[in-house]
Amino acid sequence: MEEWIEQLQNSVNTLDKLKEFINVSPEEEKAITTLHTKWGTTPYFASLMDPDDPNCPVRKQVIPSMKEKENRYGMHDYLLWKENRRNGEVRPDSIARQYYDRIAFTVTDTCANYCRHCFRKEIVVDHDLKLRFDVEEGLQWIREHKEIRDVLITGGDPFLFSDDKIEYIIKKLREIPHVEMIRFGTRIPIVLPHRITTGLKKALSGFHRIPIWVNTQCNHPKEITEKTARAVHDLLSCGVNVGNQAVLLKGINDDVETFRNLHQKLLTIRIRPYYVFCCEPAPGIDHFRTPLEKGAELIRDALRGHTTGLAQPIYVIATNIGKFG
Ligand SMILES: *Cc1c(COP(=O)(O)O)cnc(C)c1O
Ligand code: SF4
Repeated sequence: MEEWIEQLQNSVNTLDKLKEFINVSPEEEKAITTLHTKWGTTPYFASLMDPDDPNCPVRKQVIPSMKEKENRYGMHDYLLWKENRRNGEVRPDSIARQYYDRIAFTVTDTCANYCRHCFRKEIVVDHDLKLRFDVEEGLQWIREHKEIRDVLITGGDPFLFSDDKIEYIIKKLREIPHVEMIRFGTRIPIVLPHRITTGLKKALSGFHRIPIWVNTQCNHPKEITEKTARAVHDLLSCGVNVGNQAVLLKGINDDVETFRNLHQKLLTIRIRPYYVFCCEPAPGIDHFRTPLEKGAELIRDALRGHTTGLAQPIYVIATNIGKFG
């Protein structure tokens, strides 16, 4: 069996399994046993947790917290607003549209790591929003909309699909004359780098008219390992570009040193920083949100003029009419 499948089958998603990796704090235990929320990660990502420090940045992204119940600023049905699902044009559930020339194509609601700060929590973690992610229906919509030149495949995590299914989606998109680029949004290089297998490399590689870009999500230098470095190198060797979309998270990466370290370390493993997102007003993630100006201050104090231009992401706030930097 391939190692990545084994990792998924041994997902760390119960208190007992978590206890094999860390000394679970009373607060963590309370949240796990009282909150009805989907959570879990790969044994690999769990092994990056500090066993004794509940403030470990990996722990905070993986383990539920009672703070998820405090919801002052989060918008109910956030994604209906954010992805323009109840106004304007009628589209399949898999197609989120904010721009004229590009769309986000949601193909699955399954992830390898259920991030506590996920802005898609209502779909991915809590399943409050029931949507249908039908690949064929989405492909047909893209075929019929000649203005779409850029397709961002997202989820959930699209790299959890089988090699064949990924290859199929790429093939079908490449057959559409107006599609000029394919992008994947995936946390796989960070939470399950074992997934970048020979089979997946085969599906992604080769010279084609339509290039593939990958954006992953790495939020803390601790998430960067030798395994991730290899996975990124393998993607690049297929001709796939790799960027990063970090989320600004209170107590995780919102200090100057961590922020600079993160962006410099990404370059050392060949990942080009692309975006840093202000934590969105989705429900249950208030405790991760910084003031809006924090990101701009960090770019000024940690990156601009302090390190190479290659390490500079764009700081953006995501809205239903696009991202603003
Ligand atoms: C983020 C996003 C895109 C891609 O935006 P870029 O700024 O080009 O990376 C496209 N469609 C939707 C709905 C998005 O949320
Ligand atoms: S991998 Fe992405 S979609 Fe999945 S839980 Fe994390 S942030 Fe959300």
